[in-house]
Amino acid sequence: MTMGPKIRLITTVTCPVCDFPAQEAMPVGESIQYYQCMECGSLLTPEPGDCCVFCSYGDVRCPDAQRTEGPVPE
Ligand SMILES: [Zn+2]
Repeated sequence: MTMGPKIRLITTVTCPVCDFPAQEAMPVGESIQYYQCMECGSLLTPEPGDCCVFCSYGDVRCPDAQRTEGPVPE
């Protein structure tokens, strides 16, 4: 039985406004375009060229990006 590359589903999203890190579970097959910081309430949207807020502000890229780009170095 072969397993594909390990996909990380938990990310730490760091708010660019207040630097608050929040651990979040990333849904597979969904691209999240809005994320509200639980600390300061800022509504984050992806930066140009990024597919979702996790790719812009998370410490790992989203599951779909991981699948196309390969595993992220630890
Ligand atoms: Zn914030």
